[in-house]
Amino acid sequence: MVELKDVTATYPNGVTALRNVSLRINDGDFAFILGSSGAGKSTIIKLILKELDAAKGQLIVNGFNLSSIKKSKVPALRRTVGVVFQDFRLIPNMTVYDNIAFVLRVIDASPKYIRKRVPYVISLVGLQDKTRSYPGELSGGQQQRVALARALVNDPRLIIADEPTGNIDPELSYEIVGLLKNINECGTTVLMVTHEHDLVRHFGGRIISIEEGSVVYDDYLGGSYEN
Ligand code: ADP
Repeated sequence: MVELKDVTATYPNGVTALRNVSLRINDGDFAFILGSSGAGKSTIIKLILKELDAAKGQLIVNGFNLSSIKKSKVPALRRTVGVVFQDFRLIPNMTVYDNIAFVLRVIDASPKYIRKRVPYVISLVGLQDKTRSYPGELSGGQQQRVALARALVNDPRLIIADEPTGNIDPELSYEIVGLLKNINECGTTVLMVTHEHDLVRHFGGRIISIEEGSVVYDDYLGGSYEN
């Protein structure tokens, strides 16, 4: 669960990126955060990950109160969140398998668990036949699927997808959002940040629209998406 109560965020140079933002995303929800460039979308992500402190207000993320969280608990908070970036951020000289396994090796997961879990998340994103490929041998859409598998491998409660379709062909964008929808249907909360109105209109659902640091719309919209 993610809750922002009356949150204001200001950068060191004095820019106020968010002003009195309140929103709540319950466990199991799927929500789009929609807004043009500079609206404040990335700032919300930085706050959720505790990369930035709110100047005012309160944030609760997966049971952690970010106003009072100890520094030593921040890694535990971040492990409850899987993040997918616009530019994939895969390691070029590692195979698909190793890009994903790497996350589990860092947290000292057992080799037995890694051997079981990695192929499972690779199958969730439909890339079984690319396990031994390198990122450079994959299309943008496939690379984003790897990034999604990597975000899922830790079994996070929340997936944040930051403009995940920004670097891929429009028709593949629908596939990526479709995959996020499937993941959400299996119980993971999904927050997808985008500026693409067409995509949001197609899928519908909860839309949180941000303009100049304020929530200007937060409601459910019917989409043309059929599962
Ligand atoms: P979006 O993700 O919607 O494009 P951002 O959250 O990145 O918007 O930015 C919101 C506002 O905060 C913008 O005015 C932007 O210029 C400003 N901003 C973003 N990051 C920084 C930063 N590190 N330092 C100063 N201002 C920033």
